[in-house]
Amino acid sequence: MLFASFVGLIGLILVQERADAIDRAKLHLGNLRSTAESSLDSIIHSFELSLDAVVFGLEKFDVASYPPAVQRAILFDRSAFAPQFSGINIIDATGRVIMNSRDETLGLREGEIATTTLQDRSFFDVHAKRDDVGLYVSEPFKRRQTGEWVIVFSRRFAGADGGFGGVVAGALRVSYLQALLDRLDLGRRGNASLVRTDGTLLVRSPGTSDPTMGLPVKDLLQIVDRETRGVFEAKSPAEDRLYAYARLEKLPIVLAISESKAEILADWKWRAMIIVLAMILLLTLATILLLRFSSELDRRRNAELALQKAARQLEHLSLTDSLTGLANRRSFDLAFEREWARHRRERAPLSLLLIDIDHFKAYNDHYGHPAGDGTLSLVARIIETEARRQIDVAARYGGEEFALILPDTDADGALAVAERIRITLAQQEVLHSHGINGLLTISIGVATAGRADTDWNARKLLEAADHSLYEAKHAGRNCIAARQSHGVTAIAVV
Ligand code: GH3
Ligand code: MG
Ligand code: MG
Repeated sequence: MLFASFVGLIGLILVQERADAIDRAKLHLGNLRSTAESSLDSIIHSFELSLDAVVFGLEKFDVASYPPAVQRAILFDRSAFAPQFSGINIIDATGRVIMNSRDETLGLREGEIATTTLQDRSFFDVHAKRDDVGLYVSEPFKRRQTGEWVIVFSRRFAGADGGFGGVVAGALRVSYLQALLDRLDLGRRGNASLVRTDGTLLVRSPGTSDPTMGLPVKDLLQIVDRETRGVFEAKSPAEDRLYAYARLEKLPIVLAISESKAEILADWKWRAMIIVLAMILLLTLATILLLRFSSELDRRRNAELALQKAARQLEHLSLTDSLTGLANRRSFDLAFEREWARHRRERAPLSLLLIDIDHFKAYNDHYGHPAGDGTLSLVARIIETEARRQIDVAARYGGEEFALILPDTDADGALAVAERIRITLAQQEVLHSHGINGLLTISIGVATAGRADTDWNARKLLEAADHSLYEAKHAGRNCIAARQSHGVTAIAVV
């Protein structure tokens, strides 16, 4: 989870950074668009003013009555001679150029010398047919005389009769606009275009063999229809781009500049790659360390478990009699102490059995020590089996003597258990050449500390059991003697 949240956090930061880079680019592009827009606006409007001045002069004054030099002074203001403009033509109703701002040989009246006719130009045609066009922007074309590419801005003027008098047309050099757009810092793959609102491309920077290349003219014009300026993203299979556009004030011209998104995001991509690589490295290192740490922990835990197991085995060994598997004397002492304490606490009766094999020395002498050992184990199994309750503790007390602690058991219960043990051994009919009736037998001493308070202590209970055992031996063996804190009970079994 820690790793996942780390990766998630880095991912979130990278996504945010990407969005920031795009936002910054949009802002930058918008600013550039505004700068270019105001330059273009002022150039075109100053040119428009020059054309308006010519139309005004033609319509309001009887210009033809003045000498050519005065005519020029009336019609053409100083700004008409700016280098970006390649001249203003005054064209009469038949399409003949009757005056040119740059050609001093022409003047109204002597206009007959002009042979050039511009009737076939689209702008002339538009004004001749309609009088509501206002300022008309032509598509770019090559000038016949100079071979230079220009865009013509034109206005109609009225004749003396109020009908179509002709057209005032000024040419703006495409190269000038192109240079202006070239100066915009749009990166290596950025571009800028001027498009007429009917979709005709006027200028493009950088110039290419296919000038409309990559420009989504249709989308652009649709967007311009809704909003005159803005920023939008265009997805294309070749390259995603960011566009800032604006429709020039009161003109049928749209300026669109764009940057490549790949170029905008190049820096971000580098940073993201380095961060991702560093993250992978870091996570790999962390994983390696974690694995090592966890395997070290495993190793330690295993060692600890092995140690615990060994300790348990050792404890088991230290509390178990190796021959019979019963509790040993030490374990008996601990259990006896514990059960005595409980007896005092809970005032429940506590019984103790001491079980001794009869004539065992003789058995050993006759059958040998290994056989004696086997018989000891057999008797141990019988005691263990007959002490049926979980809390009963069977122990090897020493030599061929066993002890059985019976918590919460009164004298009658203890006698019943003792008798069961004696009978079970008898039923096994273990041969003993020197035994009673030729069989192996046991004698059992029973002592019970009763429910009521007594003046007995643990040692007294043990002595009482020992005393009972002595009595059983004395009574002829293969029998049980019992006593309790209140009075003495003895049973002799033949
Ligand atoms: P009694 O009927 O009075 O109990 O006679 P006994 O011979 O059983 O009594 P005694 O205490 O004199 O003898 C105990 C014998 O038990 C001594 C020894 O030969 C035998 N013995 C004690 N511990 C072991 C043991 O671990 N293995 C074997 N095989 N014999 C043992
Ligand atoms: Mg014995
Ligand atoms: Mg003995």
